[in-house]
Amino acid sequence: MSWFSEIELGPPVEVFALIKAYNEDNFEQKVNLSVGAYRTAEGKPWLLPVVKEASIKLVNDATLNKEYLPILGLESFSNAATNLLLGVDSPAIIEKRAFGVHSLSGTGSLRVGAEFLARVLGKKIFYYSKPTWENHILLFKNAGFEEGREYRYWDNNTRSLDFDGMIQDLRNAPTGSVIILHAVAHNPTGIDPTVEQWDQIANVVKERRLFPFFDCAYQGFASGDVAKDAYSVRRFASLGFEFFCAQSFAKNFGLYNERVGNLTVVVNNPSVIPAIKSHLTIIVRGMYSNPPAHGARIVEAVLRDPVMYEKWQDHIKTMSSRIIEMRKELRRSLEHLGTPGEWNHLTEHIGMFSYTGLTESQVERMIRNHHVYMLRSGRISMAGLNPSNVYYVAKSIHETIL
Ligand code: PLP
Repeated sequence: MSWFSEIELGPPVEVFALIKAYNEDNFEQKVNLSVGAYRTAEGKPWLLPVVKEASIKLVNDATLNKEYLPILGLESFSNAATNLLLGVDSPAIIEKRAFGVHSLSGTGSLRVGAEFLARVLGKKIFYYSKPTWENHILLFKNAGFEEGREYRYWDNNTRSLDFDGMIQDLRNAPTGSVIILHAVAHNPTGIDPTVEQWDQIANVVKERRLFPFFDCAYQGFASGDVAKDAYSVRRFASLGFEFFCAQSFAKNFGLYNERVGNLTVVVNNPSVIPAIKSHLTIIVRGMYSNPPAHGARIVEAVLRDPVMYEKWQDHIKTMSSRIIEMRKELRRSLEHLGTPGEWNHLTEHIGMFSYTGLTESQVERMIRNHHVYMLRSGRISMAGLNPSNVYYVAKSIHETIL
């Protein structure tokens, strides 16, 4: 008799289950629109040339070794990452009120930050957008938060932001609640607040004394411009807020499996930093002890070297423009086919994802009849579209809706 024979099967993680089903599908025209990873025009993963270049240099660098990094990681990397997020002229950086913790991609940075907040905040309530990247909920609960609550975000009728609903829900949040905000390219809806709306969100966060925790998984990847994509975070910094921000380098560097991330912490007084760092150190020590080095060294090298940085800028422009082009192409094809419904939201959304508006049963048919894999919620990854499959996808949506 096993110690574990009483354990029942846990629920599958939807996106990974879909990847498996897609890989096992023998249909020639199958399309995977579920995973949030960039694909080339040929539908292949892309190792960014500058990442390869930096990686080779590192492997050949005789001064480097595989010794442990410090518990909070490679400081030169986390400084470069914090600068990328906030901008070197940020008052938070100049006044030494910001620092970074090199962590395990976006997920690990969120988890370390959430665990710290769960320990120090009296109220253990977090708010997430409805809908959100589903891992936020699991991750904050596992980090010790007692309760997760939704704030309204997506309006299915208008296929846009329910801004009044969002503000109302934030107004009703108890003081001290942590508010998860997608810094840019909201996952899964693809819709972000406008510049004016960010200011209104900031007002409520201030009035209600809420704690903003930004999740920044797509800086540069969304528009091709790193400063533009960091607008919300930089705005909060310039308004004097204290906040956390989890940065991921999975998408914008294509370093998905290297797990490179940074938790940026911005406070209003540098004197509180040593104590915060000491507790973050204890949390990381008990969780994974210290982070891996190779991916972070790649990002640091590219961010610090002006020539490699230029190349990286070109790469993020290549990726973001292809995604924008696919948005246009999918809309054009659906309109050309005369598919019922409005499709302008596809080109109005930003970043990797869009909500199609397809219902759960329509999604089921997309997978079963057309071999087009997508999330139950109707979310698709634009990165999975390419010039060879976009018309097939449009036709599949058309036939499914009719
Ligand atoms: N946050 C959001 C909104 C995401 O979409 C993702 C990845 O899909 C992440 C965080 C974290 O990704 P990773 O842990 O791979 O950096």
